[in-house]
Amino acid sequence: MDMIKDKVVIITGASSGIGEATAKLLVEQGAKVVLGARREERLKVLADKLGNNVSYKKTDVSKFDEVKALVDYALDTHGRIDVLYNNAGIMPQGYLREGNLKSYQEMIDINVMGVLNGITAVLPIMREQKDGLIISTDSVAGHVVYPASAVYNGTKFMVRAIMEGLRQEERESGIRSTIVSPGAVSTELISTVGNNDIEKGLTDLFDGSTESGLTLLPIDVANAVLYAINQPKHVTISEVLIRPSNQS
Ligand code: NDP
Repeated sequence: MDMIKDKVVIITGASSGIGEATAKLLVEQGAKVVLGARREERLKVLADKLGNNVSYKKTDVSKFDEVKALVDYALDTHGRIDVLYNNAGIMPQGYLREGNLKSYQEMIDINVMGVLNGITAVLPIMREQKDGLIISTDSVAGHVVYPASAVYNGTKFMVRAIMEGLRQEERESGIRSTIVSPGAVSTELISTVGNNDIEKGLTDLFDGSTESGLTLLPIDVANAVLYAINQPKHVTISEVLIRPSNQS
């Protein structure tokens, strides 16, 4: 089956980690990929490496106008949008007693509003096409709660609720929705933790070695995204939950 070929896919958070690995995989499989993230230089290097079927636009997902501009750019370039992959996210950690309101707001703006901005920008286009798939990166953290992670977990619970609501609301319009929920993945996400002690504790998980069975690689998540996209239209993969084999 070759269902990904020539599909137009927008990926946010494409400048590193899961988004970058997914962009590479989908381009290898023949998709036309439009990358979005804030670090434009990283996007440029990646786009240059991946060739003609890749373009990019600097995008801060917390700003609706920028997400809309990314979606419009993809539509102008390719004439349609088959898949929006809302993947951008950050993971600041900290105890509620520390009261870091700024970091709570930032997480909500990026992890939750980023997804809502994406859905809002792309839905009218997909409704007109009567076709489209919206994927969001959720997390095992959207199913359980850890100390020092309540707000991050809360954002991922919320994304799960939003995506399920989207599935129910749009099931007759030809628009499908999928969440991909990984456990620990070795990426740069650890650099957003913002608490040295917690970051130290997580370092082993993010070291890029799979021997311990405690860590996934970005490509493991990218494979799940490809699986969801490659389904025929009558099949919706509502969620793929992927744990490293040795994760508790
Ligand atoms: P990375 O830090 O490697 O990637 C995060 C991406 O999000 C980067 O490309 C970053 O780009 C982008 N990003 C962050 N803020 C914004 C913003 N405001 N606007 C646009 N892009 C933004 O980490 P991962 O690949 O691990 O993270 C991807 C997703 O996976 C996140 O949603 C994360 O919550 C989720 N996840 C990760 C897990 C893990 O263990 N790594 C486990 C479960 C879920 P830039 O800074 O250039 O904007």
